[in-house]
Amino acid sequence: MEPKQVDEFFTRLAALNPAPKTELAFTSPFTLLAAVVLSAQATDASVNRATPALFAVADTPAKMADLGPAGILPFIKTIGLFRTKARNLAALSAMLVEKHGGKVPADRDALQELPGVGRKTASVVLNAVFDQPTIAVDTHVFRVANRTGLAPGKETDEVEDALLKVVPEQWAMGAHHWLILHGRYTCTARLPKCPICPVADLCAYADKATEMPATVTPRAKPAPKPRPKKKAQPSQQRRAAKAQLGKKRRG
Ligand code: SF4
Repeated sequence: MEPKQVDEFFTRLAALNPAPKTELAFTSPFTLLAAVVLSAQATDASVNRATPALFAVADTPAKMADLGPAGILPFIKTIGLFRTKARNLAALSAMLVEKHGGKVPADRDALQELPGVGRKTASVVLNAVFDQPTIAVDTHVFRVANRTGLAPGKETDEVEDALLKVVPEQWAMGAHHWLILHGRYTCTARLPKCPICPVADLCAYADKATEMPATVTPRAKPAPKPRPKKKAQPSQQRRAAKAQLGKKRRG
């Protein structure tokens, strides 16, 4: 993609969402770090369902370390790889207490030293908490960067390096979010929504979809059955007339 097109690409995504944010729920640098660690190979929605109860009892590294893997486990059982994540969360919390005074460091090497924290997690934290123009590459960013021709690459690190080179400074802070959200909701892995894509004319993907994915229409409710008509009650007058007739016959 030409530099002018890259600028146009982000101009359009930014116009649609001027202040993009992570969809993970967090209240502090530590809870964001914990949420990002828990979100590996899991959806943000599944993490957001589990973390309110966990953070209610352990929203600092000291409290999380005290909880330990066995105490963390019941809170995150609904998230994939929960056993490993419980161990990592307890260990990284203990390391934050021992080495960083209970604070999340604003340094990539220090972050990546923490158990369960790789390059992607460190990039998300540096961007969301410390306002550093990093561009974490997850599965959505990887797909969008490759399909569009923005920053093609076979490995996530290669794509990240390419993105850092091609994304203009003006868009670097939000690029990670815009690319993630575009991949999550428009440029989806299966059946991308090319016909309504705001950057379709800039995109180099050879297999653009020409039709929108069929939406699942809810089954129509069966029409209510007509109720059997109630037998008409004889009116008072008719009852009275009948009684009168009966009297006459008897008389
Ligand atoms: S045109 Fe299609 S493939 Fe290209 S970015 Fe948009 S949704 Fe993705």
